[in-house]
Amino acid sequence: TDTKPLKQTYIIASDSTYAPFEYQNADGDYVGIDVDLMKEVAKQNGFNVDFKFIGFNSAVQAVESGQADGVIAGMTITDERIKAFDFSEPYFDSGVQIAVKKGNNKIKDYKDLKGQKIAAKIGTASADFLEKNKDKYGYSITYLDTTDALFSALDINEVAAIMDDYPVIGYAVAQGQNIQTPIAKEDGGQYGFAVKKGTNPELIAMFNKTLAEMKKSGAYDKLLGKYIQTDT
Ligand code: GLN
Repeated sequence: TDTKPLKQTYIIASDSTYAPFEYQNADGDYVGIDVDLMKEVAKQNGFNVDFKFIGFNSAVQAVESGQADGVIAGMTITDERIKAFDFSEPYFDSGVQIAVKKGNNKIKDYKDLKGQKIAAKIGTASADFLEKNKDKYGYSITYLDTTDALFSALDINEVAAIMDDYPVIGYAVAQGQNIQTPIAKEDGGQYGFAVKKGTNPELIAMFNKTLAEMKKSGAYDKLLGKYIQTDT
């Protein structure tokens, strides 16, 4: 596939608050792994990006409906999604995890969630996981739009637990959020940049090319290290 841009500006949809992948810094500018990565792809390949930080589910729908050219939003490559999207090579290994309020030592296992409310974002891998295991563990699911809303719901005890991707939960823990993670994360789920199936193949080609170059030069590890501090 050609790795030249066919448009001067591509519209890229993303989540609204999904640190460390996309979030607003103290100056109100959007930063994060997804943002920096996409900007680098644009810079290396000579196009402009018009970001739309509209929330995960809206970002996915914007690409499906052709209102955006691509989506980068910590989006997990799933069997279901590859029916409707073309994905780049994976750029991050993720997985989902439960978080509860700090000091809630009653929840130590999924079975302790019986009769409890758990919140997840609409249309996410976490929502899928919770749906699949709902009958087994006997909890109910509260669907919310943003990761901030998950943290708020937990904070005001509207729900007993939340589920989101582990790097996002881990970032919140590192930032001193009032949460703890009593249950080990579920492994599996890699992030990819996506376009609507059959559209903008050059975008995927340019993304893959720049990602491979950044991995080779060490720039990609440097980018991850900028946002994710690994404890040693
Ligand atoms: N990785 C998860 C998914 O693809 C959540 C993404 C997100 O909330 N931005 O469903």
